[in-house]
Amino acid sequence: MSVLVYIDSSGDKIAKNAYEAVTYGKKLGDVTAVTNGKASEGDLAELGKYGADKVLVDRSFEGIDDQQLTKLVATAAEKTGATTIVFSNDLVGKAVAPRLSVRLNAGLVSGATDLPKEDGTIPVNVFSGKAFGHVKVSTDKKIIALLPNSLQPEETGSEAAVEEFDGNAGDSRVEVLDTKLPEGEIPLPEAELVVSAGRGLKGPENWGIVTDLAETLGAATACSRPVADTGWRPHHEHVGQTGVAIRPNLYIAAGISGAIQHLAGVNGSKVIVVINTDEEAPFFKAADYGVVGDAFEVLPRLNEAIKKFKASN
Ligand SMILES: Cc1cc2nc3c(=O)[nH]c(=O)nc-3n(C[C@H](O)[C@H](O)[C@H](O)COP(=O)(O)OP(=O)(O)OC[C@H]3O[C@@H](n4cnc5c(N)ncnc54)[C@H](O)[C@@H]3O)c2cc1C
Repeated sequence: MSVLVYIDSSGDKIAKNAYEAVTYGKKLGDVTAVTNGKASEGDLAELGKYGADKVLVDRSFEGIDDQQLTKLVATAAEKTGATTIVFSNDLVGKAVAPRLSVRLNAGLVSGATDLPKEDGTIPVNVFSGKAFGHVKVSTDKKIIALLPNSLQPEETGSEAAVEEFDGNAGDSRVEVLDTKLPEGEIPLPEAELVVSAGRGLKGPENWGIVTDLAETLGAATACSRPVADTGWRPHHEHVGQTGVAIRPNLYIAAGISGAIQHLAGVNGSKVIVVINTDEEAPFFKAADYGVVGDAFEVLPRLNEAIKKFKASN
């Protein structure tokens, strides 16, 4: 089976979820990856290690204009004869995959969490992760948008051939005036470990205990919505239904009640640790481990314990 995998290479480096998408594609068939912009040939060739035989790159435009990217992937699908097209279900994937689905008249599975089963159904996350669905595509061509962190990237091969190509993307109809990326931080959607806090922390001046623990663990920091709304923390840290949806391996939540809108963005986390003074806090129902205690005591003690453990191992 010929599989096309779209790679977002608009950042400084290729994101982990691109390697996940290539690994996923390789389990379905022969993979060609497609991207645009200025990623180095070396970085693109690396995709071969995760299963891409070839990488098509259109250098004529940079950026993530949905309409241009839709045309790029459609052109690549035609060129390769791909019957399955894989995206990561990140911001770009969520915008481009549905457009491509209309353009190619291809069924779209959005939010896939695993490979197709023997009966051809693909498991998906539905209702903000509160339930699973099984979706079968009836069109010849199919598009699968894979939830980030659903599988680990696997190194199986060697470098891929990188080929320049014209994706017929046309001119962009939007003008990007400015792009600001958080510096020196682990991007939240890619983080495997996340330390998060809510209104229980009482004020922004207390966030040192959160960032200290995150630094010790090598984790990203996140927060509940009211914390971002009141300006205690930047908006890109807000997780939940109206913020970033994450699926890290470990999510530590301190002083967060666990409202349904917060859970909607974090309940795909593999392990959830909740620290809350109120033993009736709803978050405990979703927790793998719970500490009924004061975050101001528990977070520093946890930090010290992890530092000690790291020093002796
Ligand atoms: C349409 C809509 C969309 C929304 N989207 C989101 C979203 O995307 N993300 C989101 O987070 N929220 C969202 N909300 C808001 C959500 O409903 C909650 O109001 C919010 O998540 C509560 O934030 P919190 O848990 O930080 O604060 P609170 O509800 O005030 O909870 C604070 C918690 O801290 C505990 N606590 C207090 N002191 C300590 C201490 N010293 N140590 C440990 N624990 C302590 C308390 O027991 C309490 O459980 C949305 C709401 C609506 C209506």
